[in-house]
Amino acid sequence: PFVVTENCIKCKYTDCVEVCPVDCFHEGPNFLVIDPDECIDCTLCEPECPINAIYPEDDVPAGQEQFVALNAELSKAWPVITTRKDGLPDAKDWEGKPDKLPLLEK
Ligand code: SF4
Repeated sequence: PFVVTENCIKCKYTDCVEVCPVDCFHEGPNFLVIDPDECIDCTLCEPECPINAIYPEDDVPAGQEQFVALNAELSKAWPVITTRKDGLPDAKDWEGKPDKLPLLEK
């Protein structure tokens, strides 16, 4: 499956959710995740993310391996999102910032 990684935190652009053919994106307060049990590896979402936060499970950036488990865990708790909406109000300020994991709201 594909995995949403750290750069999504506090940005949450949602361009990815509209292209997913199996509606497997789930939305939390400041982050999106993909349900690994539903993702069919179609690859459509990956280029949609304007800040490159989506990766194949076996190719997540070094040090971000914990996001594989986080997507699995949080997708069971959060509601499905299928319609694009605006990113978070201060998303621009958080693009590409390191060490955002402690800021993830569950
Ligand atoms: Fe959905 Fe395809 Fe992205 Fe998987 S790879 S989350 S099926 S758009």
